[in-house]
Amino acid sequence: MASDFMVFLDAGHGGLDPDGQYTTAPSKMFRHRNGTFHDGPLFYEGVWNRTLTNRVANRLQHLQIPYRIVSHEFLDISLNYRVEVANWYYRNHRKGIYISNHANASSTHTARGFEVYTSPGRTQADVLAEMHWNNVRDLLENRIDYRSSLSDGDHDREARFFVLVRTLMPAMLVEHLFFDNAEDARLLMDPEIVERFAEAQVRSIVAWMNT
Ligand SMILES: [Zn+2]
Repeated sequence: MASDFMVFLDAGHGGLDPDGQYTTAPSKMFRHRNGTFHDGPLFYEGVWNRTLTNRVANRLQHLQIPYRIVSHEFLDISLNYRVEVANWYYRNHRKGIYISNHANASSTHTARGFEVYTSPGRTQADVLAEMHWNNVRDLLENRIDYRSSLSDGDHDREARFFVLVRTLMPAMLVEHLFFDNAEDARLLMDPEIVERFAEAQVRSIVAWMNT
């Protein structure tokens, strides 16, 4: 069933380079007052995005579902390049879906919760996003908060994010809680929470392949 299918995985932003330097803008990191994160009080969104994406990739490998990680191990390569890579393989190799993994931040550092984004309008991506919303609800239940927009009849939010509007294939961008909120950041550092987010993503991929 996987012969003509590929998952394009995108871990948002960049990570830590071999010298331990964070490669992404300061807005994609946060210094917490208490707790230990990726580097003492510092939470690096790009590092978290890679942790989750690698767990999803690992599961896909075991299930023999083809995937291609379009982000770099640590460089913050351009969105244009990530999308171009996915689109090339989509045109020339296999059809598929694009999933961009992120964690969120707010100006007040008080916002919390989980969100899924698709491009505006009803597309195939809305079907994928709704499946994913339901899988996350099943696996994380009331351990996390949820931020939905029911304006168009499903739970995803809509935005003209580059990776959503420039990809040729159905694409969703997942905001896994708010890394600049103390409670959400603690949840993001909980290995079981990460495990459940990864499992939900794989279940959404499998469900999509079965549609
Ligand atoms: Zn992000």
